[in-house]
Amino acid sequence: MTVSAPSDVRLLTLPRPTKRVIAPILVVVLCFCAICSYLLIEARRSTYERAADVAKGLISAIEADIGRNVETLDLSLQAVVDGLALPEFERFDPVVRSLILFDRSATARHLSKLYVLDKDGRVWLDSKTLSPSKNDLADRDYYLVHKDSPDVGLYFGKPVRSRSTGEWVMALSRRITHADGSFGGVVVATLRLSYFEEMFKKISLGAEGNVTLARRDGTILMRWPEPQKYMGQNLSRAKLFEDWARAREGSFDAFSITDGQRRLFVYSQIENLPLAVSIGQSNSDIYLQWNEYAFSIAFMIAVLCVSTYLLIAYLMYDLKRRAAAEDKLSILAATDALTGLSNRRHFNETLSREWKRTAREKEPLALLMIDADHFKHYNDAYGHPAGDHMIKIVGAAVASSLDRISDLGARYGGDEFAVLLPKTTLEGALNVADKIRFAFATLCEGEGVPKLGLSIGAGCIMPSNGTHAGELVQFADRALYRAKDYGRNRTEATETPIELRSAVRPGRAA
Ligand code: GH3
Ligand code: MG
Repeated sequence: MTVSAPSDVRLLTLPRPTKRVIAPILVVVLCFCAICSYLLIEARRSTYERAADVAKGLISAIEADIGRNVETLDLSLQAVVDGLALPEFERFDPVVRSLILFDRSATARHLSKLYVLDKDGRVWLDSKTLSPSKNDLADRDYYLVHKDSPDVGLYFGKPVRSRSTGEWVMALSRRITHADGSFGGVVVATLRLSYFEEMFKKISLGAEGNVTLARRDGTILMRWPEPQKYMGQNLSRAKLFEDWARAREGSFDAFSITDGQRRLFVYSQIENLPLAVSIGQSNSDIYLQWNEYAFSIAFMIAVLCVSTYLLIAYLMYDLKRRAAAEDKLSILAATDALTGLSNRRHFNETLSREWKRTAREKEPLALLMIDADHFKHYNDAYGHPAGDHMIKIVGAAVASSLDRISDLGARYGGDEFAVLLPKTTLEGALNVADKIRFAFATLCEGEGVPKLGLSIGAGCIMPSNGTHAGELVQFADRALYRAKDYGRNRTEATETPIELRSAVRPGRAA
C-alpha cells in the first residue's frame, strides 16, 4: 500500500540562502584578486622606472668622468700643438723640447703616451723617450683624417692594438697646421681602453646587462661584458644610433642586435663629444625580484581561490543538506504519521489558500468529509492495531483516488478524513467519493480485512468575498451528519448556493 505525501509541502520550505551567501564571497574574492593584480602591475611599472633612473644616474657619473679626462688630454694635445709653433722649436735640445711639449698630464695613469707624427706619418717626438722608434703610422685612421681635412679638431680614433705594447688603445689626435696652412703632422695621445673597461666592470647590472661606449659612426670603443668581442666593431644598425641622431639622450626598449635579448636601453651623449654611453638592462634582470614577488602573490591568490572554492563547495553541500533536512521536517510537520496524508494543520492552511485562489479565479471549491462507521465497535471487536490498519486503508483509498495535483487528502482527526477538491463541482466531488468507496472496497478485499462502512458528506461552494472557508466545512459536515442519520455507509450532499445546485446530485447509498 503506497501513500503519497502532501502535494504542496514544498511551499512550506524555507528560502534557500545559497546564492545570497556565495555571491558576496565570490565578489570579495574577485575584488581581492583585482586589487592584487592592480598592485602587481603598479609594482612592475615602478620597477621599470626605477631601473631607468638607476641607469640615468650611472650614465651621469660615467659621462662626468670621461668628459673630464678627455678634456685634460685635449688640453695636453693643444699644448703640444702650441709648443710646436714656438719659433726656433726644432733647434731646442731634445730634453727641453720634451719638457715644453709633454706636461704632467702625459704621465696620467690611463694615457699610454703622447707622440707627434711628422707630415709623412712617422713618429717624430715621443713622450716616453728622447729617441723615438720612427715607426711609420701613415696607415692609421687619425693620420689620414687630419691629413685630408684641416677642420676635424679633436679626433677619436678606432680602437687598435698598440704596435709597441700590444694593449688595446684609442687615439685622440689633433692636426698640426703650419703658418701657411699646410699639413705639418699629427699630435696623438693614446688612451688605454682598460680605462673604460675598469670603469664599466664595476657597474652591477645583473647577469645580462651591458655598458657600451660608442662613436657617433657606430664604432664600439668599449663594451662590457665581452669587450674583446665588440671593440672596434661597427654596430651602426643598432637602434641606439637611430635614436641618438634625433636626441642626445633618451631611453628605449628593444631587442639587442647582438644577442636578441630584450633590454631597456638608456643612453646619453658625452658632453659635446662624438661619443655616447649606453646602459642596457635585460628585462629578465629588471623583473627578477618582481617575478619572485608576483609568483608568491599569485601563489597566495591561488591558495585563497582554492580555499574559497573548497569553502563554497562545503557551504553548498551543508546548505543543501540543511535544505533537505528542512524539507523533510516540513513534510513531517505537514504529514499525518499513520496514513501519510496531510494532517489537519496542513489541511487548514491549504483550505485557506485554495479558498482565496478559487475566489480570485472564480472557480468552485468542493470538499468531502469522510468518517468510518461504528469505528468504536471495530476497535472493540478487532483491537486497536487492527483499527489502526483500517485507518491506513482508508487513507490509502483516499490517496489513490486523487488524480489532480491540486487535490488534497487529509486525516482530519480520529477516523475522519477530509478531501479538498479545488476547481471541482459538486458532481465532480460525488464522483471522487464514489472512487474512494470503490478503492476502499478493493483494498479491504485485497487485504482480507472485514469491511467497514464509510459515510461521506460532500459540499461545494463558489468562494467569494462575502463567504469564508468555514462555510464549506460546515456544508460538508452537515452532509456527513445527514449520511449518518440516513443510515450510514452513503454519500450525502449539502444544500448549496443556487448557482451550483444544477451540479448537485441527491444522496446515494454505497
Ligand atoms: P459513527 O458511525 O457514528 O462514526 O461511530 P463511531 O464509532 O465511528 O464514532 P466516532 O467516529 O465518533 O468515533 C471514532 C472512534 O475512532 C473513536 C476512537 O475510538 C477511534 N479512533 C480514533 N482515532 C483512532 C486511531 O488512531 N486508531 C484507532 N484504532 N482508533 C481510533
Ligand atoms: Mg466514525
